[in-house]
Amino acid sequence: MKSVFFEGHGGLDVLKSADMPEPRPQEGEVRVRVKSCALNHLDIWVREGLPGNPKIPMPHIGGCDISGTIEAVGPGIKDPSLKIGAPVLVAAGVSCGECEFCQSHRDPLCKKFNILGFQRQGGLAEKVCVPERNIIPLSTSSRYPLSDWAAFPLVFTTAWSMLMEKVKLQADETVLVQAAGSGIGSAAIQVAKAVGAKVITTVGEDWKIAEARKLGADEVINYKKEDFEKSVKDLTGGRGVDVTFEHIGPEVFVQSLRCLAPGGRLVTCGSTSGLDVTFNLRALFSKNITVFGNYMGSIKGLKKAVQWAEERKLKPLVGKTFPLDQTREAQRCMISRDFFGKIVVTVS
Ligand SMILES: [Zn+2]
Repeated sequence: MKSVFFEGHGGLDVLKSADMPEPRPQEGEVRVRVKSCALNHLDIWVREGLPGNPKIPMPHIGGCDISGTIEAVGPGIKDPSLKIGAPVLVAAGVSCGECEFCQSHRDPLCKKFNILGFQRQGGLAEKVCVPERNIIPLSTSSRYPLSDWAAFPLVFTTAWSMLMEKVKLQADETVLVQAAGSGIGSAAIQVAKAVGAKVITTVGEDWKIAEARKLGADEVINYKKEDFEKSVKDLTGGRGVDVTFEHIGPEVFVQSLRCLAPGGRLVTCGSTSGLDVTFNLRALFSKNITVFGNYMGSIKGLKKAVQWAEERKLKPLVGKTFPLDQTREAQRCMISRDFFGKIVVTVS
């Protein structure tokens, strides 16, 4: 099968496009014929090598955001509705489904939790095998093309967990979403607007302002031209926002905290600008601020988000597409930030 893989960590040049042996579905697994696979920063970090050298299979096929059709089922599949040819989405996080965390829909806390395209082979190939539990059936009359759906799973799993399950965003609240043009930012804006909240967001290029507004953002700040903390205060009459949705890290973290109104909540799911921040604790406790950490989300949450998408409240947002053999260019584009939404690699 056609695939993109690497045999050792490194820069973009370690990515190879060549045939790999077809995977065979094991007990409880389904083989998916990949339609599309969206990229995430995770793909770049896994290729470059992560601190602590987590074990990843080599040669390694990256990519965790997958849409496609069921192509084969392994032994022991429980759901008889999983038919060959059915359109599906794949949930990126694999967990045991049985422990206390899985049972309470906190999948990423499972001891066996791992991610497609990271600790196991991913979707930048014509075929991928995944556990039955990770298969999310799509309606055959879905309003979105199957290729677009690849832009959905990871960012909406995460945005759903952050806004709906952690901070429990309310319709009468205002949320600051960092980086509207990123995959996760564009998902967060949609979830927040579907809830009915007011959204203030940031962009680094003027052309992204109109795109953010199209998604429903009420106010858009170009952080390269304005001090976003001052703009947030101005836009909220000096009060600040109820919730900050953060995923950038040191570049904006302290200012993001300062944008909060008393009693506000900040939720973060990652950091693309480093890992260490220093902030004043008095500002945290005296204003009754809550900070939530969030790592991905549950399959249950993803299923609810898919339902909202089928009801037209959310949509997979494809920023740019590349064919499989141009995955290197696709990753280069991701690093450049010169896109709005998700970068999707079309496989078949
Ligand atoms: Zn578990």
